[in-house]
Amino acid sequence: MNKNVVIVGAGVAGVNAATKLVDNNYQGKITIIDMGKSPYERKPEEVMTGFMGAGGWSDGKLTYHTAIGGHLSKYTGDEKAMELMDQVIENFKRFHPKPEEVQCSNPVAEPDFIKPYFGLRLFPVWHVGTDYLHEIGKNWYDYLVSKGVEFIWETKVTDINFKDQIVSIGAVDEIEYDTLIFGVGKSGIDFGKQLAEKYDLPTEAKPVQIGVRFEAPQKHFQKLIDVSYDFKLYRKFEDEGVSLRSFCTNNNAAYVALEETYGDYSYNGHAKKDPKYKNDMTNFGILMEIRGIEKPFDWSRELVSKVQRSCIVPGEGGGSKKACGRFQNKYKAGLYWSPSYKDKSLTSEGDWVKAHYVGEEGLQEVRDAFKGYFKYIEDFIEDMKKVFPTLGDDWGIYIPEVKYLSPEPLVNYKDLSLTTYPNVHFVGDALSARGITVSGAQGTLVAEQMLIYQKEWDAFIEAEDNSTVWDEEDNKIYTVGGLTNDKENSFMKFLNTKMKSYE
Ligand SMILES: Cc1cc2nc3c(=O)[nH]c(=O)nc-3n(C[C@H](O)[C@H](O)[C@H](O)COP(=O)(O)OP(=O)(O)OC[C@H]3O[C@@H](n4cnc5c(N)ncnc54)[C@H](O)[C@@H]3O)c2cc1C
Repeated sequence: MNKNVVIVGAGVAGVNAATKLVDNNYQGKITIIDMGKSPYERKPEEVMTGFMGAGGWSDGKLTYHTAIGGHLSKYTGDEKAMELMDQVIENFKRFHPKPEEVQCSNPVAEPDFIKPYFGLRLFPVWHVGTDYLHEIGKNWYDYLVSKGVEFIWETKVTDINFKDQIVSIGAVDEIEYDTLIFGVGKSGIDFGKQLAEKYDLPTEAKPVQIGVRFEAPQKHFQKLIDVSYDFKLYRKFEDEGVSLRSFCTNNNAAYVALEETYGDYSYNGHAKKDPKYKNDMTNFGILMEIRGIEKPFDWSRELVSKVQRSCIVPGEGGGSKKACGRFQNKYKAGLYWSPSYKDKSLTSEGDWVKAHYVGEEGLQEVRDAFKGYFKYIEDFIEDMKKVFPTLGDDWGIYIPEVKYLSPEPLVNYKDLSLTTYPNVHFVGDALSARGITVSGAQGTLVAEQMLIYQKEWDAFIEAEDNSTVWDEEDNKIYTVGGLTNDKENSFMKFLNTKMKSYE
């Protein structure tokens, strides 16, 4: 079986899939198309595109837990998921110029002081080192090229015809495939959506992920940060379909960031590395995952639109200083609340983080917008005050933080192929991953299944070649003029009848 495999996206998922295939002497042509550049050409500012995709200039942290980094064990079960992640980590070590420097941090003990109120998710992380990713990329790329993989760089795939099995690049060029691996990552999320709509792909709904960005001086959390730098507190209300987790913790030089999506504003956070930005603050998302909401995407969009405000400059339309907060400009942004009326913090550029200060009344509007779910966040904060006793009212929240999870295409769990187009496999962030290890593992899973299919096919062909369907005696009896084998004798009967009619 000589299959023509086209991989769209040279990201972590696509590259791991290709590696698994060539490592196992896959008998087919493999072409990888990417809108970015080869590792020799790619510039540091090209964060999302090129060899290894977003993983190529990432923080290089390979998380090693089935509950982190998106869905994998839902398709494969836990044991297989871990085995697939092992393969990805091995690949990173294999192409690392100094594999002995890949470190694994593995916090093991959940501290007693948080136990009554929260779980702390502890998991191993392999630190590849951002500085080495570039070298890893070059070594990895050279290996794939040496194994005959063809790369087409700086080429955006603009359309895919699933029916005729053709990938379009630009207006004129087309590439045919037998098997397609679609791994376009976050930078291709709109393209994935476009194809899902065009082919009316059945989708699997994803739960709502919404909450707030919490910010406080770091000193209140130091005891926990000493145990786990990027701590993940969580709690679950199984019967109510709600789980909460602290998400993406930033420390030391931690800044709240404003994000715009679909014309509305929400919050996120980031940490600066340069010591000159040190502000001794901590921020993290308190995110709720809410199950059972019928149209989660629309529900989140509506909620977010209700917690936006456009500031009215005092004197114009009755606006007041309080309504506008300290930032006296006309702008649209989300909301800020602090029980101690703490000032909003500054961005790393020294500006106020754009958000509209709300008082008790405004907070009630927030509760209404969250349709009863805000109490889970308020309880989470109340319990943090018990666990971190110095916290008190020394904090603020930016509202909302949201993760818009567009519905993912429904795939066969065995090989991540579309239920309606079984030779098209979705992998990585384009499916349900959110991290390097899981994305790579999904690519590996697809390749493994392709190798199994190839083996089964080869075994079938070999069996066919060796089988003697007709023995010589059969040939003599049932072959008529060399044209047919007529085991059931029907052709002979037909012939005899016909001959009779001529007599
Ligand atoms: C700044 C940053 C830091 C991160 N740090 C970490 C970390 O430390 N640990 C972790 O686990 N995760 C991290 N992540 C997330 C991680 O990088 C991604 O989850 C992972 O790379 C997803 O892999 P992927 O193969 O699905 O997509 P990607 O790696 O994003 O690759 C997708 C590729 O598809 C290409 N592409 C997209 N559309 C098209 C098109 N139409 N035509 C042709 N090519 C196309 C892109 O050019 C890209 O190269 C980070 C992400 C970012 C942005």
